Amino acid sequence: MGAALLDGKAIAADIRRDVKTQVDAHLAAGGRAPGIAVVLVGEHGASQIYVRNKRAACAEVGFYSELHELAATTSQSALLALIDTLNADPTIDGILVQLPLPEHLDETAVTERILPTKDVDGFHPYNVGRLVLRMPLLRSCTPKGVMTMLARTGQPLEGLDAVIIGQSNIVGRPMALELLTARCTVTICHSRTKNLADKARGADLLVAAVGRAAFVQGDWVKEGAILIDVGINRGADGKLIGDVDFAACAERAAWITPVPGGVGPMTIASLLENTLQAAELHAKDRLM
Ligand code: NAD
Repeated sequence: MGAALLDGKAIAADIRRDVKTQVDAHLAAGGRAPGIAVVLVGEHGASQIYVRNKRAACAEVGFYSELHELAATTSQSALLALIDTLNADPTIDGILVQLPLPEHLDETAVTERILPTKDVDGFHPYNVGRLVLRMPLLRSCTPKGVMTMLARTGQPLEGLDAVIIGQSNIVGRPMALELLTARCTVTICHSRTKNLADKARGADLLVAAVGRAAFVQGDWVKEGAILIDVGINRGADGKLIGDVDFAACAERAAWITPVPGGVGPMTIASLLENTLQAAELHAKDRLM
């Protein structure tokens, strides 16, 4: 393997340590612990695991966290009423509604109901809009985590040709905005893109967020490129596989993220940073 590994697990551990240090200092000064409310509707297996991991990370850094487990049959009005209660609760800085929601619930309306300063996922149109206008507040966790990893390479991003495969609201689009803000020249590819492999080959920085195991082939990667694999797919043997054919791509890339242990842990680390940031915003608000 020629590429250097961008070790998300190690970088995320550093971030958790930093967040914990800040929480400890805040508590020592008589402040309260940042608080997060996690809302889980129904019994979606993967969501239950994600929620467990996020809450464990919150406990490790000293956050107060509470879990609201609601039945799959919960009505839209009951869910919105819970969000209103959490919006008004001064001990809660972040509200995380685990997606996907059961089909009868309107995810957009739920996301928009969360107070923007408590939107620690960074999915609210207010927060996405601020990113569009280059004045980010709470940033979407996965793209923010990728930016933190990229900073660790020490490579300047300005002027790089960045290609993102995937245009979802939670990964591809905010990723494009992050990279544009970092002054990359950004191309967003998706399922209707022509000559995808050729576009990928032009990338100094390639981000794969497709959701198809080992989709990006070795000969799609420019020599010396930075390769970020956001994908999480489960193989027939139950093992996690990224969107990138790791062994072949690592021969050509200069930097590559592994799966697991790459972008995944960084997403949770960003959630912790966002919750701390939200707590600081709320503390400042109360002083004003
Ligand atoms: P999504 O299904 O919403 O979007 C997938 C995107 O890929 C779409 O924009 C689609 O147009 C594009 N696409 C699909 N087939 C394509 C093709 N043949 N050629 C080009 N583009 C194609 O998925 P998402 O929510 O953005 O997630 C993408 C992947 O990232 C999934 O594997 C998901 O599990 C993973 N993910 C990981 C994290 C993390 O923390 N590591 C966070 C979120 C998502």
